[in-house]
Amino acid sequence: MLPLQHPTVALYNNSLKKGMIKNYSKMKVLLEDCKWYHVCPMKKFYEEGKLNKRWVELYCKGDWESCIRYQTEDRGEPHPDWMLPDGYIDERLHRLYNQVTR
Ligand code: SF4
Repeated sequence: MLPLQHPTVALYNNSLKKGMIKNYSKMKVLLEDCKWYHVCPMKKFYEEGKLNKRWVELYCKGDWESCIRYQTEDRGEPHPDWMLPDGYIDERLHRLYNQVTR
């Protein structure tokens, strides 16, 4: 849920304008899925039943802009396939990953 004020609020209170612009920009993010979803290991883990659906809902099909995986990908920085969207290195996923790739 993203609380949004009616745009006319900015007409009466200019100090709220910056926050409103930020919230409306976030709305655009929430309306689109992450551009990396089709190739992201999180999708594969989720489809194989190894990752809780909430990760996909909250990040991949939600606020992907806040995903640490997304941000590191955008900066071209390497990161393990078992790093969760919040940046946590999940060793359980690492073990599962190794079982599949061996
Ligand atoms: S985990 Fe992050 S990078 Fe991967 S699809 Fe989801 S939001 Fe995008």
